[in-house]
Amino acid sequence: MMSRPTNNVAADPTRFFEIDPVALIAAHRAVREGGQAIIGHYHSHPSGDPDPSRADAADAVPDGSLWLIVTRARARLWRAVPHGGVHGRFDAVAFDCITGNRLESGVRTVSLARNNDPLRAESWSLTFDD
Ligand SMILES: [Zn+2]
Repeated sequence: MMSRPTNNVAADPTRFFEIDPVALIAAHRAVREGGQAIIGHYHSHPSGDPDPSRADAADAVPDGSLWLIVTRARARLWRAVPHGGVHGRFDAVAFDCITGNRLESGVRTVSLARNNDPLRAESWSLTFDD
């Protein structure tokens, strides 16, 4: 697995993000040429919480891709889905980043999703307590 940093080309990058389209096209080209699949992307909320904003939800394609949102202190992983629990677009995904420890203190709800989407044919969704 690898990550590719890109520039934020949003008109107001302090409030929104937009992946540099040149970098995005290059990443998709690399996949077509035998590179690793694109499973998602990441961005930061420098002064907020690691939950998707309404703008994130409006921009997200519900294709099962992963969204990692990081702040100065925390990170959360989300999956963009058609009827998510957050803004109708995102479900929380449990993950360990380096230590293998879950970063949040408690799990509020756990649900098992089954559908015909090969990206999430059967996947667990967890919602965390704050
Ligand atoms: Zn965001």
